[in-house]
Amino acid sequence: MTTNLYIGSHVSTRGGYSKAAQRAYDMGANAFQFFPKNPRGLGVKRFDVEEALRCRAFCTKYGLRSIAHSPYPTNPALGDSKGTGLYQGMVDSLKNDLHIAEACGSAGVVVHFGHAKLSDPLAAYHHIIRFLDDVLTEWQGSAKLLIENQAGDHGPMGTTLEELVQIRNLSRYPHSIGFCLDTCHAYASGLWNGSEDLELLKKGRKLGYFDALIAIHVNDSKYGYLSNKDRHERVGQGFIGEKGLTWLLKQREVKGLIWVLETETGEDGTHQDDIKRIRSWII
Ligand SMILES: [Zn+2]
Repeated sequence: MTTNLYIGSHVSTRGGYSKAAQRAYDMGANAFQFFPKNPRGLGVKRFDVEEALRCRAFCTKYGLRSIAHSPYPTNPALGDSKGTGLYQGMVDSLKNDLHIAEACGSAGVVVHFGHAKLSDPLAAYHHIIRFLDDVLTEWQGSAKLLIENQAGDHGPMGTTLEELVQIRNLSRYPHSIGFCLDTCHAYASGLWNGSEDLELLKKGRKLGYFDALIAIHVNDSKYGYLSNKDRHERVGQGFIGEKGLTWLLKQREVKGLIWVLETETGEDGTHQDDIKRIRSWII
């Protein structure tokens, strides 16, 4: 196995967090992503700390790296526009995700940039910054919030490197904020052209985006460039294809990061084949 290559997929936590790590290991992965709790709600989970620490120990022992993914209703751009109850619920939920991720030894919690249709579009950006600050105030752990770029399916917010970097810079806690680059979203939104995109590298370096990049969602796309569709396809089977993904994954900016597939499994019910495929492209 090549050193500095961490690859895996989103895995189920059925049976506990350590079971998720075991599942990843069993399919030949050395990275994985998991939901810290029910992904459809914002309830705070009273989790079994001992069990989470077993996940951490397993990952340390076998050299796995992981990230958590916040529940879908987490939308930083909403702020309190739909009521303070929902806002506080989102803050408490994401704090809870950070605690679980920290106990599991994860690098961070992926959170979507967010979207909102407000009469003042700038208000949505203010909401995001305040939300990040409210979640991170008093946070002492090493797990970070990992802001994910969006496909543009809910409008143009969160589809450019400039926005991602600015939001981080304007937060009071930039050191606790990193990024997760979703390749399907990047392609569908026009952030990446899906092939040898030197402009993307140049811009990312200039803005400092890559310095804070922690994870890559390695997804192909069911739809074309600028389609703004958030529809993941198995690697090599979509519009980006093997050539484009291989180019991106060979760049030094993404080397050693946590690569996670968020796609359908193969016939064996795991991502084993896709993981092997990517390794064969890179090595
Ligand atoms: Zn993603």
